[in-house]
Amino acid sequence: MTAVVLDGRALAARVRARVREEARAAGVVPSLAVVIVGEDPASRLYVRNKTRAAAEAGFREQTIALSADTSEAALLSVVRRLNDDPGVDGILVQLPLPPQIRPQAVIEAIDPAKDVDGFHPLNAGRLAIGKPALVPCTPKGVMTMLREAGVPVAGARALVLGRSTIVGRPMAALLTLADATVTLAHSRTRDLATECRRAEILIAAVGRAELVRGDWVAPGAAVIDVGINRTGEGRLVGDVAFAEALPRAGWISPVPGGVGPMTIASLLENTLAAALARRGGAVGSAA
Ligand code: NDP
Repeated sequence: MTAVVLDGRALAARVRARVREEARAAGVVPSLAVVIVGEDPASRLYVRNKTRAAAEAGFREQTIALSADTSEAALLSVVRRLNDDPGVDGILVQLPLPPQIRPQAVIEAIDPAKDVDGFHPLNAGRLAIGKPALVPCTPKGVMTMLREAGVPVAGARALVLGRSTIVGRPMAALLTLADATVTLAHSRTRDLATECRRAEILIAAVGRAELVRGDWVAPGAAVIDVGINRTGEGRLVGDVAFAEALPRAGWISPVPGGVGPMTIASLLENTLAAALARRGGAVGSAA
C-alpha cells in the first residue's frame, strides 16, 4: 500500500477561497493586525505569508513592525491600542519574542475576542472544557485536513507527539472533542516507538528531524507531520521519515506543503469568525 499524500497547499487554497466567499456573502471585510518584533528572517517570512493571504481573501491587513529592542511595556501599549480599535477584528503577535519580553504577558494582554491565534488563557480554557471559541491555527488546520481526507476520527486511537501549548495540547483537545481516544506523548514518554505503532492517527509535533521512523507507523495509519526542521544540508524535513512512512501509512502529509499552508488558512477562518462574532454572530465551530 502507498499512502494518500495530503496536499496541504491545494486544500488551504480551497479553504481560503471559501473564507473569501463567506466574508463577501456576509458583507464583512475582516481586519487583521499582525505585530512583529525584531528582524528574525523566518518570522518575517511567516508574517508576510499571513498578511498576503489575508489580503488575497479580501481582508484589510496591517503589519506593525517594531525594533528588536522594543520594551515589554511598549509592546503591551501597542496591543492595548489594537484591542481598543473598533476597526481591528484580529490581533496576532508573531512569536518568538526577544528575551526582554515575556510572551505570556503579551498573550494575556490580547482581547480574547480578537485573539486569532487562540493562545489566550480564556480561549485555551474554553477549548479544554469543550466550549471552544478561537482555536490555535495549526491544530485547527490538522483537523480540517483529517476531515477533508475522510479519515475516521471518532473512536480512533490517536497519538499526539509533543505537548506544547500552541500545537500538541490543543491538538489533543480537538481530537478528544472529535471522539478519538487520545494519547499525548512527549520527551518523557517511555518506548515512543511502541506508542506510535498503536496509533491509527499519528500527529507529530516535536521539532526533531525524522524522529518518527517508518516502522513506527501502523499499516494504514493517518500520519500528520507538523514538524519543520532544517537538515545540515539545508533541506526542509518534518518529524517523520517521509520516504519510509509512505509505503506503510494510509494517509500522510508532506513537509513542506502539508500542515504549514493549513495553519494560514485557519488563521483566515479565525479572523472571519472573530469579525462575525464582533458584529453579533456566534464564533464558528472549533475545527
Ligand atoms: P516545542 O519545542 O514547543 O514542543 C516540542 C514538544 O516535543 C515538547 O512537548 C517536547 O517534550 C517534545 N519532544 C521533544 N523532543 C522529543 C523527543 N525526542 N521525543 C518525544 N518528544 C519530544 O515545539 P512546537 O510545538 O512549537 O513545534 C513543534 C514542531 O512543529 C516544530 O518543528 C515547529 O517548527 C513546528 N511547527 C509547525 C507549524 C506549522 O505551521 N507547520 C506551526 C507551529 C510549529 P517535553 O514537553 O517533554 O519537552
